[in-house]
Amino acid sequence: MDKQVFEALSAETLPLRIGGNAALKEKIGENCERWTVNEVGDGNLNLVFIVTGDKGSAIIKQALPYVRLVGESWPLPLKRSFFEYHALVRQGARDPGMVPEIVFFDVEQAIIVMEFLTPHVILRRALIEGRRLPKIGRDLGLFAARTLFRGSDFSMPTREKKADVALFADNVELCDITENLVFSDPYFEAELNRHTAPQLDPLVAELRADRDLKVEAQRLKHLFSAKAETLCHGDLHTGSIMVTDDETRIIDPEFAFYGPISFDVGMLLANFWMSYFSQSGHEAERGSRDEVRSYLLDTIETIWETFRVEFSRLWRTERRGILYQASLFEDRGDPLAAEQALNIVLDEIYREMLGFAGVEIHRRILGLAHNADFEMIADPDRRANCESKALKLGRHIAVNRHRIHSLRDIRETAERLQ
Ligand code: ADP
Ligand code: MG
Ligand code: MG
Ligand code: MG
Repeated sequence: MDKQVFEALSAETLPLRIGGNAALKEKIGENCERWTVNEVGDGNLNLVFIVTGDKGSAIIKQALPYVRLVGESWPLPLKRSFFEYHALVRQGARDPGMVPEIVFFDVEQAIIVMEFLTPHVILRRALIEGRRLPKIGRDLGLFAARTLFRGSDFSMPTREKKADVALFADNVELCDITENLVFSDPYFEAELNRHTAPQLDPLVAELRADRDLKVEAQRLKHLFSAKAETLCHGDLHTGSIMVTDDETRIIDPEFAFYGPISFDVGMLLANFWMSYFSQSGHEAERGSRDEVRSYLLDTIETIWETFRVEFSRLWRTERRGILYQASLFEDRGDPLAAEQALNIVLDEIYREMLGFAGVEIHRRILGLAHNADFEMIADPDRRANCESKALKLGRHIAVNRHRIHSLRDIRETAERLQ
């Protein structure tokens, strides 16, 4: 087959199309006639297959030249697969073992073949079922700190970092999706928006008329587009995390871009706050998910606290980039100057993170891409009740982020709303 011409895989054609690949045969077994293939993609954008041979299984992910959720009327370039591959490589180096191992990558066919995570399940599903995963708070905090610190000017040689900023700058179309869907569309009657109506109509009108909120959302968009601070995952929600009780893995970084450290952390925490407010839509009787709710708020605090501690450790031990050089601080016998700078940097990440979390909550309830936490609540009155609390918290943390001094304060607000 001509390598240049893209062709979508199907379960039928897959063994013939990639059955000659040595790395894959080595992993799952030589005889591709005996491979079985299942399509499992539940994502919005791409094809995902599990292929199983005599020796084992692998995941085959292929980008399509359009948005799967919408169809061919919304084209989306195949090169997102290239960015996903490069992000996986970097994340795997920065926090070893936390992303699937790559078997091979075919740039023309936009195919990534990777480790099949099993018996892992998508974290969002586990949380909807009311499961409490004991390790995720710590694992996610470490992943965020390590990938975000080690991809930044705090750590990287500046030549390497600038080259990487240039490489990822071409992920234009996926950034464009975030720029519109997260920061703008929720705040006006954009065509692709939807929300639970008529229940949420009055609150939605109020939010769209909220000047402070709209200004804040655009300040955050400005940060998103202008602050090329580190390589972000770009889509770090609970649907991009796979878990067992013992393991946490991160998948699907096709939205990877150079942006603010706070962006990934904010998206992540937003998804836990949404899970928190969705629980009352899933509980069998009032109060039966109380422990889950408390676990979710604890997990939010654990993620942030772990992030803060690990980021601080890396600041003290791996700060080799062009910023806040040790030659100005520690090497001059003034380690407290480095600590003072660290506090300022962390405080800025915290304030921005709250803003990103707030708008992420809004867009998942008012925009195009909703999440299963709320969508799976069949009764619209019950769903709207959960969603309206989340919308209010989102507004509170986005607008008041400079005045909210700790996650403890947000915990109280969330519990009061709930
Ligand atoms: P999309 O970009 O379309 O959202 P994802 O990378 O999120 O695609 O994959 C879609 C689904 O496929 C995931 O929700 C998960 O169920 C499954 N999946 C993806 N990668 C793996 C993997 N490495 N191991 C096991 N399952 C996976
Ligand atoms: Mg996905
Ligand atoms: Mg580890
Ligand atoms: Mg994706």
